[in-house]
Amino acid sequence: MALKKAFNRIKYSDPDWLDSDGNPWLRAIHRDAHAQPFANLAKAWSRYFELRRAGQPAHAPRFKKKGRAPDGFYLANDKFRLEGRSAVLPKVGRVALREALRWHGKIMGASVSREAAHWYLAIQVDVPDYLARRRRTGDAVTGVDLGVTNAATLSSGEKIAGPRPLKAALRRLRIRSRRLSRKLEAARAAAGIIGRIVKGTRLPASKNRTRGALALARLQARIARVRRDFTHKLTTRLCRENQAVAVEDLNVRGMLANARLSRAIIDVGFYELRRQLRYKAARYGTHIVLADRWYPSSKLCSGCGTRNGGLAPGERTWTCAGCGAQHDRDVNAAINLQRLATGALAARTALPEASQAVTRGAAAGPGLAGGGEVTPVRHEHGQQDGSGQEENAVHICTRNR
Ligand SMILES: [Zn+2]
Repeated sequence: MALKKAFNRIKYSDPDWLDSDGNPWLRAIHRDAHAQPFANLAKAWSRYFELRRAGQPAHAPRFKKKGRAPDGFYLANDKFRLEGRSAVLPKVGRVALREALRWHGKIMGASVSREAAHWYLAIQVDVPDYLARRRRTGDAVTGVDLGVTNAATLSSGEKIAGPRPLKAALRRLRIRSRRLSRKLEAARAAAGIIGRIVKGTRLPASKNRTRGALALARLQARIARVRRDFTHKLTTRLCRENQAVAVEDLNVRGMLANARLSRAIIDVGFYELRRQLRYKAARYGTHIVLADRWYPSSKLCSGCGTRNGGLAPGERTWTCAGCGAQHDRDVNAAINLQRLATGALAARTALPEASQAVTRGAAAGPGLAGGGEVTPVRHEHGQQDGSGQEENAVHICTRNR
């Protein structure tokens, strides 16, 4: 509150907050949008301290600067209105929308944001459950191996490649970034700056450089859209066709630290993929099983359970020493994950014949009907040091146990 007060005192008078025409830039934005960032900041800090107190990893909110942070602002539901395919926003006035609002329910608020040269209005609607629910088209149980060569491999043997337009776009991204950095270099040379730029220095923005920056931003926005489209279609399909889906709960942070892998992982957007699976599962009543990162899904033979400890990261196919089966690395991993899903599902519904093979030694959680739940499956190292079927044991941890 003190910060907000201080801000309000100087927001129209501080010389640093004047536009090139001498007017305070905050005048162009509705007063309500000034207050929202403080509410967000307060929320971010209290969340930070809450996590710290709980002993969990947390990072403090980062400083955001006009022109550096993404452009956008929040609108409370009484500050704008929708009229078919247009919206009336404070200060901005009437804007045409690409489509009318598709959802029926109470409008909670909206936010306006910019991506490259496009402006978006995201409207938050409280939709009753019966409208939000979706009907599944199938009751399959699928294991999904997320990978680098193929974005996803299903236990049915199907391999889903990542979106193809992405590769071409990434090449273009390099070209446009290079062009922009050369323009920046030229601007620095023209300004007579050698070496490091002193903090706070402003290079005069040429039209050419602004155009170059926009071209790069447009492409980055397009790449983001291609990725988003792909993950949305994949996660919707998985939740729609299955009663249970098992994926690896990869340690994304750890994998990103590996520079060679990181490009491919960001491409597929593992984190986003799991986030979407979670909320769509609730919508379709699908059960999501997360196998933790210690579960050796690639190393176990899906036929006999023999563990292939010497499996190298690059090996695409391997032969089981136990039963001689030929395995495609990714399909085999997907089948192992499918097995986990079957086990978790069986434990929940307590079907004795199905639970035998997979859930040996596992305690069943309370058998709740319905879906949309997420079951983390914990694989504990060293608990069973033998090889074979026991590696497939499922440990189910439900929240309320
Ligand atoms: Zn085998």
